[in-house]
Amino acid sequence: MAAHCSRVAGRARYPGIPLMSRCLRRYSSGCGQAVPKEPSFRPPSLDVPPRSSPEPQLPSSRLDSLKDARPFSSFLTDTFNRQHDYLRISITERCNLRCLYCMPEEGVPLSPPEHLLTTPEIVYLSTLFVSQGVTKIRLTGGEPTVRKDILPMMQEIGKLRRDGLKELCLTTNGISLHRKLDSMAESGLTGVNLSLDTLDPFQFQIMTRRKGFEAVMKSIEKILELNERHGAGIKLKINCVVMRGINDREILPFVELGRDKVLEVRFIEYMPFDGNKWSKGKMFSYQEMLDAIKAKYPGFEKVPDHKNDTSKTYRVPGFKGKVGFITSMTHNFCGTCNRLRITSDGNLKVCLFGNTEVSLRDMIRQENNNKPISEDALQSLNLLESARQAARAEDQGYPVNERERELLDIIGAAVKRKKAKHAGIGILENMKNRPMILIGG
Ligand code: SAM
Ligand code: SF4
Repeated sequence: MAAHCSRVAGRARYPGIPLMSRCLRRYSSGCGQAVPKEPSFRPPSLDVPPRSSPEPQLPSSRLDSLKDARPFSSFLTDTFNRQHDYLRISITERCNLRCLYCMPEEGVPLSPPEHLLTTPEIVYLSTLFVSQGVTKIRLTGGEPTVRKDILPMMQEIGKLRRDGLKELCLTTNGISLHRKLDSMAESGLTGVNLSLDTLDPFQFQIMTRRKGFEAVMKSIEKILELNERHGAGIKLKINCVVMRGINDREILPFVELGRDKVLEVRFIEYMPFDGNKWSKGKMFSYQEMLDAIKAKYPGFEKVPDHKNDTSKTYRVPGFKGKVGFITSMTHNFCGTCNRLRITSDGNLKVCLFGNTEVSLRDMIRQENNNKPISEDALQSLNLLESARQAARAEDQGYPVNERERELLDIIGAAVKRKKAKHAGIGILENMKNRPMILIGG
């Protein structure tokens, strides 16, 4: 990549993390030779239903086949032909817990509020990514439920179902989820990954440095009830990070949860991030977990995984639930990775363990005098409509708006830089990365 495009701007907060600044020459092709700036073009009104119109009437099988007929966006396809149709957005840096493995004891420096993406900016980026073929969006954090406007935000993102979004998911610690679940289900919530590392209320307080076990259990019960009584269809996964000597003795009780509950418990290998005091000795490996479970349940068996699953899925015959393992440390799953991440301060991160980031926030604020995009600016700049039209314009032979084109060029260049796989044990723990709370898992 040409030097002008990969100009590195240091981050004051994470001095080791190179931040790829935006390409200074507008509308360059591949950052090699500058291409003359094209006149700003707004495509003629394409066949896009107004925002207030009802859901499209086409049967979903026909919609799926129409969508599948379009080749997957080249911007979201990397050099290893991995198609990134899953976007994880961190919507806050704040959290109401202080988990040992995630939050450094001394806390993390929080960004000034004006550095964080506003809800209109998050909805705009979601719209643009969905226009390019993203079918799954997960909101995470920090703790996403502490963001005050999470409900209206989810409502807006949920509307992208009409443009091809199939899954709207949340990763949460469950502390205040139960109060918001009804409204989230109405917005189209399809999956919850709920973090819980112990079934013992006292141990909960040790691992999270806060109280709240009962509230988390209430959220679990509420999801199960919404599913059983109201057919909400919210896929529930319980994420449990296993740390040697801290909660490894709870593996079997967690497996027992699935005896009569329709949920998947996922055991996660403890990963190193800045400030979390990771050591190889504290990591309890997939193989060790498997051995412990098989000793109690000899029939424990593998079930087929889906194409882009990060976890290896098993079941105990006769149990309603399943068990998964996220083995980032001992068996990476980079070959089938379809994930992109946006941090709450608006950086695109193409790999959880990669430390290069590119700012989308600065790009989208340019037209707004570098100020955060408010609801009014969203309307006056016609952001949502032009993002929604990006894919259709291309399909119908119109040039894509310059603003979206430029953003997509930057996203595409970052995706193309994604490596075949991330580093392994021995290197990862010495790499500079954000603390996990500022990435979002
Ligand atoms: N606050 C939410 C929660 O806890 O679910 C969302 C953010 S949290 C950073 C996302 C996920 O990352 C959680 O499932 C958490 O267990 C996991 N996580 C955090 N630190 C980790 C670490 N060091 N190793 C493995 N998983 C980690
Ligand atoms: Fe907060 Fe989630 Fe990190 Fe725990 S894992 S400190 S709940 S962000």
